[in-house]
Amino acid sequence: MLELKDFRTKVHNDWCPGCGDFGILNAIQMALFELKLEPHNVAIFSGIGCSGKTPHFVNTYGFHTLHGRALPIATGAKLANRDLTVVAVGGDGDGYGIGAGHFLHAGRRNLDFTYVVHDNQVYGLTKGQSSPTLPKGERTKSMPAPAIVEGINPIATAISSGYTFVARSYALDVRHLKEILKAAILHKGSALVDVLQTCPTYNDINTKEWYAGADLPSKSPRLYKLEEKGYDGVVKDPNNSGEVTEKKIQAIVNSFEWGDKIPIGVFYKIEEPTFEEMIETRMPTYKTTTLVKQDVLNRNVDPLFQYLT
Ligand code: SF4
Repeated sequence: MLELKDFRTKVHNDWCPGCGDFGILNAIQMALFELKLEPHNVAIFSGIGCSGKTPHFVNTYGFHTLHGRALPIATGAKLANRDLTVVAVGGDGDGYGIGAGHFLHAGRRNLDFTYVVHDNQVYGLTKGQSSPTLPKGERTKSMPAPAIVEGINPIATAISSGYTFVARSYALDVRHLKEILKAAILHKGSALVDVLQTCPTYNDINTKEWYAGADLPSKSPRLYKLEEKGYDGVVKDPNNSGEVTEKKIQAIVNSFEWGDKIPIGVFYKIEEPTFEEMIETRMPTYKTTTLVKQDVLNRNVDPLFQYLT
């Protein structure tokens, strides 16, 4: 019988003590275990950065790729073997900066995969430069001056790019993150989970204490769960364009709440045909036999040559 420890490796973990990455790693392992996924049926892809080490620590197939390039490689793997559960892992600099183009287009295709982004507002591995999600005017301890440009909003960007499951969670709330990851993995289509992650080494603004609201007069936590205020981001009828637009607008509006209160949870979810299902309409064998199991060596290519000559 599969146990949680079957998803762990013996690779030495050199993340800084207290890093939020540990919470994300635990949540990924717990989600895979609770979904009863066999390790050999899961593949994890990463880019460069502290988050890039994740595949080393999860006992599944894994590929530590290049900066910002986790998504195209994950896409190729999923297309070649649609039976795989594909999870891509990146950082906010890696995914929303260097890999921003891939981030947009992966959502547009609605390929069935999950993208987990460690969002700590800095480039941790390279000494804490500001990343694309650091708000304008903020200055972390390794910056000589405050950021002079606005940060991007990953939730709003993902929704407008076509992701069909868009959520935010928190690295230090492992239970919540695990449940969000399970829902994202079970979702058929492109899923983004933006994870607010503490970087105690370089980000001295968005700390564990800051998320807990220690600086607020109320001393109450900044983070609250969307469902606690009756929010429902799930589209009931994907053919109802009015409902789709309404749900997108409410998700985007709520994603901009960032201050004394910050929402986490599922902002938007819709069931739409996946990229794989669209390929099936052109290649019927894709539905019955995944590409890696198709006999590509003994194909009769004569019709193709006749067509070309
Ligand atoms: Fe974590 Fe920051 Fe250290 Fe990277 S630099 S391991 S994100 S604490």
